[in-house]
Amino acid sequence: MDPDENLTRQTRGKTMIKKKISDGVKKYHITTFGCQANLADSERIAGALENAGLKKAANREAADVLVFNTCSVRQKAEDRIFGLKKEIEKLKTVNCKLKTVLTGCMMHYDKKELARRISFVDIFLDIKETAKLPKLLGLAARASRRETEDYLKLEPKYSSGVSAGVPISYGCDNFCTYCIVPYSRNREYSRPVKDIVEEVKNLVGKGYKEIWLLGQNVNSYKSLQEICRNSPAEASAKAGTIVKFPDLLRIINSIPGDFWIRFTSPHPKDFSDDLIKAMAECEKFAHYINLPLQSGDNAVLKRMNRPYTAGHYKKLVKKIRKVIPDIAISTDIIVGFPGETKKQFENTAKAMEEIGFDMAFLSEYSTRPGTAAAKTMKDNIPHKEKECRKKILNDILTKSALANNKKLIGKTVRALNGKTEGHKTVKLSGKFPKNKFVKLKITAAGPWGLKGEVVN
Ligand code: SF4
Repeated sequence: MDPDENLTRQTRGKTMIKKKISDGVKKYHITTFGCQANLADSERIAGALENAGLKKAANREAADVLVFNTCSVRQKAEDRIFGLKKEIEKLKTVNCKLKTVLTGCMMHYDKKELARRISFVDIFLDIKETAKLPKLLGLAARASRRETEDYLKLEPKYSSGVSAGVPISYGCDNFCTYCIVPYSRNREYSRPVKDIVEEVKNLVGKGYKEIWLLGQNVNSYKSLQEICRNSPAEASAKAGTIVKFPDLLRIINSIPGDFWIRFTSPHPKDFSDDLIKAMAECEKFAHYINLPLQSGDNAVLKRMNRPYTAGHYKKLVKKIRKVIPDIAISTDIIVGFPGETKKQFENTAKAMEEIGFDMAFLSEYSTRPGTAAAKTMKDNIPHKEKECRKKILNDILTKSALANNKKLIGKTVRALNGKTEGHKTVKLSGKFPKNKFVKLKITAAGPWGLKGEVVN
């Protein structure tokens, strides 16, 4: 939500509209739901609209074009869209020329049904058609053929001046039974190495310090190498060979500059020894990963169509920690998956205790229409029980996160805008230096954050 949304909306709306008429420039506002991939998509939408002459509005009331980039991963995210009905209808009565656009993951639903349920939307846009948006809005700007064929070629308008997400692949082939992504984003497609390198070089040249390589299954990336020979690592990946994710990491690492490389989200089944080697070799790789476990029980993992066992996952974490001892590891867990027995849940709790995560994103299972789980399994764990299981896992996490954070007391770490290399929140007694790497000595630790003092 915009910071100033607490103001009286109607009063502010009228003021903004007067201002808009006087400056004559059309303005857009994008509301993004969901993950970093959606945020990166919104930056491309913003790029396309600014290229067509629109300017960013401070809030929804001040905009002539409202874009909603939606998420379907959880019911709650979809409900937030339905919940906007009254607000948007009111805005449309004040500004009858207001155009609303819906894009993102909810576009996989039947369009007629969507139009019936979300009546305030004027344009339903497949994200891959982003280049056509200015035309659909009646604006004069034209997209190039390459941008129309591949929306990832559109120049983004980044929302931060220091940290940026660079999509390296799109879609997913894994079909985890609970997940809507393979339906909403379709099959996996890897961007050409050349395009990724170009985007990262451009960002680093502008002074960006944190590059997130993004993909729904980031470590299954593979692409045919094109002409791209600006560094030894790039030259070693000969034209015509297949570049896999560890090679890509090495290529990005060889780009000159002082910046961190992060990536999300890797799949345990595609986490090769070569990837661990590349992570250890690349000095720009920031020592943090989010490695989704989802469940610590093999039968549940099988029903989720996650092709690894809890044992494989634990061994993988051990291997990673052996090679990169100071790495921070977070995970994603779903509690109350259909049919999850108490015993099966306890296996997840045990796995969490054994692994000792730095952070975990815990969610209660919710049925996503269209997925295999929705079609074949009954959501039979009561909400109260899911809440209770989540709390048990949260208590385990609180202990392991605190224990891991305490090990950092007295150590010197690098940080950027309030986050350490291990992606932990860190506070200083004074103000954090903006957009600069700083060396900090950690002086105190809690489960959800650290305190430190500047040492350089
Ligand atoms: S790996 Fe599974 S959970 Fe992740 S996006 Fe693909 S289908 Fe969804």
